[in-house]
Amino acid sequence: MIQLCSLASGSSGNSIYIGTDQAHILVDAGVSGKRIEQGLASINIDPKTLQGILVTHEHSDHICGLGVMARRYRLPLYLTYRTWEAINSKNKIGKIDESLLHFIVPDEAFSINDLMIKPFRTSHDAVESVCYSFENGDKKIGFATDLGVYDDYILDQLRDSNVLYIEANHDVSMLEAGSYPYYLKQRILSDLGHLSNECSSRLILDVISERLEHIILAHLSKENNHPDIAYITIKTLLDEIYKETQQQINLTVANRDYHSNPIVIH
Ligand SMILES: [Zn+2]
Ligand SMILES: [Zn+2]
Repeated sequence: MIQLCSLASGSSGNSIYIGTDQAHILVDAGVSGKRIEQGLASINIDPKTLQGILVTHEHSDHICGLGVMARRYRLPLYLTYRTWEAINSKNKIGKIDESLLHFIVPDEAFSINDLMIKPFRTSHDAVESVCYSFENGDKKIGFATDLGVYDDYILDQLRDSNVLYIEANHDVSMLEAGSYPYYLKQRILSDLGHLSNECSSRLILDVISERLEHIILAHLSKENNHPDIAYITIKTLLDEIYKETQQQINLTVANRDYHSNPIVIH
């Protein structure tokens, strides 16, 4: 059994619960401790039972609640050394007991109880951003947000997933017509920025297998996307796949400001 529940998702804050029978963790803590606690309460998870927080990168929408959660519940932090340096050198999350730090290395898998975790590198404007795949028994979650581009390496990490938690950050025409300054538009569209709905749709097509049961679209931009637009872009693709293969895949969009319905696969 493996469960995923997005507690918050989007450019204003990200935190995702992943659980198995014996493992309870968060990926990122980019909203307040209070909001994380409320989200966990909605799925009956006591924060005291968490075994750690995995960090993807040092941007504030992924870490602003990290210090509070780590100190309040003495939670181990799993992150790369360079990401820790980037967080610590600017004193972004306050003082952390060094015994809580677990340095991870991209491409080196590790386990927390019955959850196997593999960090992999992503292309983003952070010092050493990673995303993760999670396995429990023969079930797999592929998790990828905050990446400007994907390649065969990324596809290899996400292949054979039963659940895909995937970025659909912006609609390119909304971004281009929108009010963001030129440099910011260029940043988002670059290989070090974020995946558009269209890129996300291509990624799904490149990685799809008969194992895929759920897709959750995540990290939507508030200004440059709309949940309905992201949903329809990907749903159109899934409808075509259904016509050809009769494969039915559940599609949802992770909520920005509150927790989403948990997804459980057995
Ligand atoms: Zn980022
Ligand atoms: Zn982000």
